[in-house]
Amino acid sequence: MSFGIRLFAYILLVTQVACAQDVRVGVLGLFHPHQITMKTVPGQALVIKTEIVQAGEKTFVLERSSGKDATEITVSGDDLILQIGSQLVRASDLHASSRSNGVTDFVLAIPGKISRRYHGVLEVKAVAGILVPVVQMDLETAVASVVQAESAPDTLLEALKAQAVATRSYFTADQGRHHDFDFCDTTHCQFLREPPPPESNASRAAFATRGLVLAYHDRAVAAMFTRSCDGRTRTPQEVGLSSHGYPYFSAVCEYCRRHPSHWVRRVSQAEALDLRQHGEASRLDMDRRLGWEALPSNNFIARSDAKGIVLEGAGEGHGIGLCQAGAKAMAQSGATFREILEHYYPNTALVTPSKK
Ligand SMILES: [Zn+2]
Ligand SMILES: [Zn+2]
Repeated sequence: MSFGIRLFAYILLVTQVACAQDVRVGVLGLFHPHQITMKTVPGQALVIKTEIVQAGEKTFVLERSSGKDATEITVSGDDLILQIGSQLVRASDLHASSRSNGVTDFVLAIPGKISRRYHGVLEVKAVAGILVPVVQMDLETAVASVVQAESAPDTLLEALKAQAVATRSYFTADQGRHHDFDFCDTTHCQFLREPPPPESNASRAAFATRGLVLAYHDRAVAAMFTRSCDGRTRTPQEVGLSSHGYPYFSAVCEYCRRHPSHWVRRVSQAEALDLRQHGEASRLDMDRRLGWEALPSNNFIARSDAKGIVLEGAGEGHGIGLCQAGAKAMAQSGATFREILEHYYPNTALVTPSKK
């Protein structure tokens, strides 16, 4: 696309793609938690508003200087059980924010398993005996957090910027993949951990591309990305997925063509047949049952030996959209984030959406 045409596309689309400023991320759901500890960070207060069963709304403040800086939440059916000091109360929901009802920093921990710091507003409810914590955070905080979690540590800034635009586009497209929140924090949506420090390359990549998203026919693209491919990216149809909106295009990936990441797995005859027929859906099903490395990609050939079926493949992930290994190599060769995005998402435009 010439510069003139690209500029035209940019101006044309700038007001047509709407963008939400916050995203609601369901966190720690992978652990199906029954117990969560919520803690303040030094210098910040956490104002907790709860709807106490048969007693109405109550407000508590957690603050280190007051000596009360943490609370434990457990679950009973669809109710929360909160430990406030020595008191146990039953509540139907919980909302935690700063003193001015805005974003704040806090730590959520599942005892013995994980502890993560977040920056946002927290809501917790119980659904059928499981705690569902949802962090409402600024879009750019979410983008930087995903770029940090999803990228290899030695990835150059231009590749991180391409990842930031892909991530922001995914959030902006708002696919409604979950009932109680917009996105989860696993690779089902996008992997999200703690927000990185402002001086990190992930934060710099988000800031440098602030607001930019990919658009196709006036709509934000729910930009998919993959860890590596086998020398060319795939369309959703090739791996048995339907694509709404952007159809994707198969792009040659020079780095993976020359340096494919090979793998070998042994499967049953029935599994091999199922994988051939159902592509990505069957691969994810197998990964869910046997672990995320059970079948790294859909790019494989099958051969039989005396013991059964052997799959020999290359690449990691569904193979659709931006290839992170290829993008990293393009950045090392001097490509800009715009060139990386044009390569892996052909026929899209870079736009700044209007605010909702
Ligand atoms: Zn999800
Ligand atoms: Zn690749």
